[in-house]
Amino acid sequence: MALTITNVKVVRTAPQGNQQLVVVKIETSDPGLYGWGCATFTQRAATVVTAIEEFVKPFVIGWDPQRIEDIYQAALTSSYWHSGPVLNNALSGIDEALWDIKGKLANMPVYQLFGGKAREAVDLYTHASGETFEQVADNIRALTERGFRHVRAQVAVPGYATYGSRAAGNARSWEPAPYVRIVPKLFEYLRTHLPEDIELLHDIHQRIPPIMAIGLAKELEKYRLFFLEDPFAPEDNEYFHILRSQTAIPIAMGELFVNPAEYVPLVKDRLIDFMRVHISDIGGLSIARKLAAYCEFFGVRTAWHGPADVSPIGHAANLHLDLAVHNFGIQECTIFNDANREVFPGTPEIRDGYLWANDQPGLGIDVDEEKAKKYPWPDQPLRGGWAPLRRADGTINRQ
Ligand SMILES: [Mg+2]
Repeated sequence: MALTITNVKVVRTAPQGNQQLVVVKIETSDPGLYGWGCATFTQRAATVVTAIEEFVKPFVIGWDPQRIEDIYQAALTSSYWHSGPVLNNALSGIDEALWDIKGKLANMPVYQLFGGKAREAVDLYTHASGETFEQVADNIRALTERGFRHVRAQVAVPGYATYGSRAAGNARSWEPAPYVRIVPKLFEYLRTHLPEDIELLHDIHQRIPPIMAIGLAKELEKYRLFFLEDPFAPEDNEYFHILRSQTAIPIAMGELFVNPAEYVPLVKDRLIDFMRVHISDIGGLSIARKLAAYCEFFGVRTAWHGPADVSPIGHAANLHLDLAVHNFGIQECTIFNDANREVFPGTPEIRDGYLWANDQPGLGIDVDEEKAKKYPWPDQPLRGGWAPLRRADGTINRQ
C-alpha cells in the first residue's frame, strides 16, 4: 500500500518556562513512522497553531510524505498571498517533519541525506551580559572555562533596557545615544582584560538609527569582532552598501528575514558575511538548504538563529544542516534545562563548546507528548507578544 500522510498533530509546550514552543508531528500510514518539525514563533504562537490546524493539516493529509519538495511548493502556493513568519512557521513544521521521516525511511541521520558530515561537530557561540564591564568579562571567562570559544557580549546601559542585558528598574525604556557611547568602551575593556584568542560578537538588534549603526560599526572594527549582528532592520537593507564601503567589520544579518527578496540581494552584492536566518521563519530545512548553497558561492557563511525561541527540534534541524554544509560559520546555541530534555529526548548535546549529533535516523530527536503536557504555555497577558519599548519621550522603538 502506498505510504501517505494520515495525520498532523500540533504540540504546544513550554518546558523552558516562558517560551511558547510549537512543534508538529506528521503521522503516516505506516503506524511506526512519524516525523517532528519546529513551528515556533513565540510572539504569535497560537496564530501558527491555527494556520497549521485549519489550513496546512487538511491540505497535506493523503500526500506521499516522501515528496518533500512537491509538498513544500504546493503548500506554499495554496494561498495566493504567502510568506511571512506565521505561514512560514506552519510550512516549516511540515517540511522539517518530512525530512525527519525521510531520514527514518533511509535509516540515516538527516545530515547524511544532505551529503554527509563536512565536520565532526558544530562550533557554538553563546551569550554573556552584565550590569558592568567586569561582570561581562567574568561571565565570558566562566563560559570559556566550559569550553566556549565564541561569546556574544552585551552590557547594560544604566537606566535603560538594552538588548541582551536589562538594567534594573526602568526596564522598558530605551535611548540609542547612551547605548552607542557605552558599547565601544565595553569592547575596549574586554580586549584589554581577556585573552586575545576569545572570539567576541555583538548584536545591535536593529534598534538604532542606521547612520548611528554605521558609526558604531566603524568604532568597533579595531576590536576584531567575530561578527557584528543586525546593524539595520530588514527594511533598511540598502544601508549595507554604505556600511560596507566604510568598514571591514564582519557583518551577520538575517534573523528577521522571512522572504528571499530580503536576503538574495545582500548575498549577491557581498554585503554581509554571515547569514543568520531563523530556519522555521523562512519555511524550514528545504529552503534553508538552498539558501546555504547559494551563500557558499558568495563567501557568506551560515550562522542560523538559535536562542531559546527555537524549539529543541529546530536546534536539531540547525545542527544537521550545519554538519553538512561546507560554508558553515558558527551556530548560536541555547543551554537547555532538564525539563526541555525530558520533553525532547535526543536534544543535541553540548560538549567543549561544540554541538554534537546523536547519529540516530532522521533528526534524532523525539517528543514525549505526555511530558509535554506537564509544561503548558504560561498564562501571559499578551499571549507571548512583547510589551512596547519606548524612547524617553514616549516614542515606540523597535525591539
Ligand atoms: Mg540577534
